[in-house]
Amino acid sequence: MDIIVQKFGGSSVADAKKLGNVAGRVIDAYNEGQSVVVVVSAQGDTTDDLLEKAAEVNPSASKREMDVLLSTGEQISMSLLAMTIEKLGYPVVSLTGWQAGIVTNSKYGKARIKSINVERIIKELDSKRIVIVAGFQGLNKYDDITTLGRGGSDTTAVALAAGLHAKACEIYTDVDGVYTADPRIVKNAKKLNDISYDEMLELASLGANVLQNRSVEMASKYNVKLEVKSSFEKVPGTLIKGVSKVEKMLVRGVTKDDNVVLLSLVNIENTPGKAFKIFSMLAKENINVDVILQSIGRGDTKDITFTIDESNAVTAVKVLNDNLSMLGAQSIECARNISKVSVVGAGMASNPGVASLMFEALYDVGININMISTSEIKISVLIDQKDSEKAVRAIHDKFNLA
Ligand code: ASP
Ligand code: MG
Repeated sequence: MDIIVQKFGGSSVADAKKLGNVAGRVIDAYNEGQSVVVVVSAQGDTTDDLLEKAAEVNPSASKREMDVLLSTGEQISMSLLAMTIEKLGYPVVSLTGWQAGIVTNSKYGKARIKSINVERIIKELDSKRIVIVAGFQGLNKYDDITTLGRGGSDTTAVALAAGLHAKACEIYTDVDGVYTADPRIVKNAKKLNDISYDEMLELASLGANVLQNRSVEMASKYNVKLEVKSSFEKVPGTLIKGVSKVEKMLVRGVTKDDNVVLLSLVNIENTPGKAFKIFSMLAKENINVDVILQSIGRGDTKDITFTIDESNAVTAVKVLNDNLSMLGAQSIECARNISKVSVVGAGMASNPGVASLMFEALYDVGININMISTSEIKISVLIDQKDSEKAVRAIHDKFNLA
């Protein structure tokens, strides 16, 4: 049995007409003789609308109830798509995350998939049905509904592809692939034919809004052949796979992330264990920390500065404030008007000079760099948010990515 997993994003299932288009895509694959499993996101802005509704009744609602609410968006799309396919005369069944056997840990709002019991899906595929699965949701060990974090339907799709040993996982969206930069910012950005898992993981983590980064991580771990393509146009997309054939390409893409907050703990006692305490407190709250800088302060103190995602800022500031005296720190400073701009490319690991070229591009247009961080295959700088688009364009030009 050749199984294919197709995932359709929120903009692709937003209304009846678009559902009709998706149904066509699904039926084409079914008519080619494949067993088709479809994963859907919530329609259009449904998830944001649900978040607003919750805030109206209780801005500090429990995460458990939030997940009960947010999981409904995907259930609307799955049933509407199933009805659309039914009407066209094809056998189809829709399944929630838990009916599909998706078991997660208990971190409401950002749960991770622990296992999938694919029995039910296999049974449905054996009876020649098209199977539609609600993305972004699962069940924890308490039989409670969980969701997988924003963009989590991508991860549902990859996890199912891995669990079902599918021959491919196609992610259909409103862009036709992964670009060298966001085409809305850089007019001559170019579509990449293929990209490696590692590069894609960096791009996804650094602000390219194409795939949830966890889905890429999982695809890499289970070697799932992933393709990002357009729901609307029948053109080849971008293939994400083991090794990129354009290894000599220094830089594959430029991204920016405006949702970055810079926190500084000022005048901490210069004694062992301070960094450990700070970051273990944040880890306990499930907060990812990115660029970290420690510098010597005046007298016997030091400053520790780091970035986190904007969505975690309120929690992080609260936790640190509550423990200020225990940390022996004087104050916390929080800067929100900054952006992280990054270049990604597997080629830079073996080629010197990428950093200097990136910094030159910024110097050419008069942009000041506040912090720098590097890994084997990426370089990130923190700059003023107002300069972020200009920075992306300057760097894209400098590396001749068009
Ligand atoms: N509906 C969820 C969201 O908007 C999950 C997804 O679309 O992948 O984040
Ligand atoms: Mg998405």
